[in-house]
Amino acid sequence: MRSVLLIVVLALSAAANIYVTEGSLYAFQTYGPEKTTEGVLLFTICVHVEPFGATPSRGAGYHDLRLFKMHSRDLMTLARIVEGHGGRLVVQAQTPFTKVAVDEGDTILADLEAHGHEIGLHFHEYVHLGRNPESLPVTSWTRSMTNEIIFLKKAGVDAIRCWSGGNRYKKILEAASNVGLEVMTDYKDPRSQETSPLVMDVNPWRPSGGPDGGDLTLFSQNDPGGRIVYLPDGAYDPEMLAAKREIILENSVEVYLQFLEDSLKHSLEAAQPEKLNVFHITVHLGEFRGNPSKPYSIIDDFLTVNVDPLVSAGKIRWATFSQMADAYSQWERDHTTCPAR
Ligand SMILES: [Zn+2]
Ligand SMILES: [Zn+2]
Repeated sequence: MRSVLLIVVLALSAAANIYVTEGSLYAFQTYGPEKTTEGVLLFTICVHVEPFGATPSRGAGYHDLRLFKMHSRDLMTLARIVEGHGGRLVVQAQTPFTKVAVDEGDTILADLEAHGHEIGLHFHEYVHLGRNPESLPVTSWTRSMTNEIIFLKKAGVDAIRCWSGGNRYKKILEAASNVGLEVMTDYKDPRSQETSPLVMDVNPWRPSGGPDGGDLTLFSQNDPGGRIVYLPDGAYDPEMLAAKREIILENSVEVYLQFLEDSLKHSLEAAQPEKLNVFHITVHLGEFRGNPSKPYSIIDDFLTVNVDPLVSAGKIRWATFSQMADAYSQWERDHTTCPAR
């Protein structure tokens, strides 16, 4: 009787293991290191829709409907390309674009969300809060971020969980959490335009505190009780990543794409089977547009050559930022003793 029970228990736990392995977004190891499955990378392309002024009423910007329509078309083209590869984009938008979308009754952001793409917030604090935003109280930031979220909602977006920006503000995590945001990405010092080796990683974490000016000591440390998940870019060379414009201008887009390919390779090497691993590419509207008769075919080709084979091999899985953060939260529940990073 006892041996029958043992067999039943073993059979059940084996079945559970198979279920968990196949049902999870991350490579899951419940039975120790004898399994040598490589780590899986969750992957997406993030699009920053840049501000062109704090409001659409000043200077060159989205109030010029030709520019707005051109960038809307670009966004749809990118979305269709990525969908063709089985993926979804993350679009982080600024108020000038969102406000014109609302005024024009353009449903582009809601349409993208309906197709499974994630819409988030790209917050340029100097544009919205003036020259010295880090000296302002958290209520000023909360008000400003709320205004941007209201426009996104008016544009028909349902769920807004991720953002980028506020990278020198000590209380950015508190401000973001106050307005219901949960997932932060794309750390870059807005003054130097540089990123930092401290935040270059493939494993997400919950920052212990905001960036204090240029001091990332608390930001780069994991606090299991933290309210915000930070999704790092991946295993990029921070200097090369910061020099994107120069590389493209002084060399070519191809040189930069080679850097992206190398970074993807390094991130795959850094991915650990027992951890949650992420990697993303950030593009700005207009970048990588290439041949006007076939816009963004550069990205299409990059995905065909570099990403599709890895997706087929099970080494990469497409996931939006919120899906990555949810997978990370699940990973935390399953790995209470394993350090995040
Ligand atoms: Zn950007
Ligand atoms: Zn930006």
